[in-house]
Amino acid sequence: VNLPPLSVAPRLDRLRAAFAAAQVDALLVTRLPNIRYLTGFTGSAAMVLVTEQGVTFTTDGRYTEQSGEQLAAAGVEAQIEIGATQADQRDALAAAAAGVARVGLEAHGVTWAQQRDIAGWFGAAELVATDHVVETLRLVKEEAEVARIRAACAIGDAAFAEVRPMLADGPTEQEVALALEWAMRTRGASGNSFDPIVAAGPNAAKPHARPSARRIEPGELVVLDFGCIVDGYCSDMTRTVSVGPPNAASQRLVDVVREAQANGRDAVRAGAAAADVDRACRDIIDSAGLGEYFVHSTGHGVGLEIHEAPRVAKTAGDTLEAGFVVTVEPGVYVPGVGGVRVEDTLVVTYDGADPLTLAPKDLVVA
Ligand code: ZN
Ligand code: ZN
Repeated sequence: VNLPPLSVAPRLDRLRAAFAAAQVDALLVTRLPNIRYLTGFTGSAAMVLVTEQGVTFTTDGRYTEQSGEQLAAAGVEAQIEIGATQADQRDALAAAAAGVARVGLEAHGVTWAQQRDIAGWFGAAELVATDHVVETLRLVKEEAEVARIRAACAIGDAAFAEVRPMLADGPTEQEVALALEWAMRTRGASGNSFDPIVAAGPNAAKPHARPSARRIEPGELVVLDFGCIVDGYCSDMTRTVSVGPPNAASQRLVDVVREAQANGRDAVRAGAAAADVDRACRDIIDSAGLGEYFVHSTGHGVGLEIHEAPRVAKTAGDTLEAGFVVTVEPGVYVPGVGGVRVEDTLVVTYDGADPLTLAPKDLVVA
């Protein structure tokens, strides 16, 4: 797949433009997905201080070469400090923050212990708790980001097409999950965006069941929820199939969830309240008398993280904007009977939504 280049370096100025509202003069970025977003660095340890004037990037000796290469490739100009110990890295960050009055921390991304530690780093500067500043920048995806999510979704579609027929052969849930992983990896995914869920029969009544060694039986509904990663970006899709014809009770659950999911998809457009998309799904399920079995939110954002902003939930305050990438995934889970979930990942557009997951929703595997 030929992916267009990401436009990383301009994100730093977008971040600086958010400083005033966050009441900071600098931000110490410690959450790795945010570090990747701002610098292109994909390693497992780093801290980045972004001030009005510059960027100081610290990591340890394992990443000396990688950090230099990746920041250069992203066009990010930063002072890179390799510190064998955290004390060395701290000194570099403190020097870069000299004269800064207010240093923001990612309140949702530092532990209590880290906060107590960092409190001693910046001298007289005030530490300010910030709330998802970089995550907010990440809400609207650039075209090159959407291209990566689309590529990951296409791999998921192809993997599903390959694996779906084997459900008729009586495999275990674990075997199906592994087949999905294999199919995605061999098509170029770097990994799963989360461990695949393959849940059949009574297990499908658990929304996040782990694949078991239980064999899938004829007549059972099977919920398959899986995704992969392409160049850091995630995909997410759920399909529910029936191995052979479903019984009437299962068919009814399927019909209701399909209608709810279609109604939710139709509600997605720029300017729509995320809560209204949730309501579009929930109303259908409620009026079928199944509301008590729809036990989770309708969806979530997808990007560098499999679950990111915005929430698509009853209590969500977000308004969808063009370029957001969200899932619509209503489900019903009836203990002892089974469950159904259908999920697509969509790009919000001005007049609707552009679906990225395109696998057919045919129910019966014969
Ligand atoms: Zn999912
Ligand atoms: Zn999802």
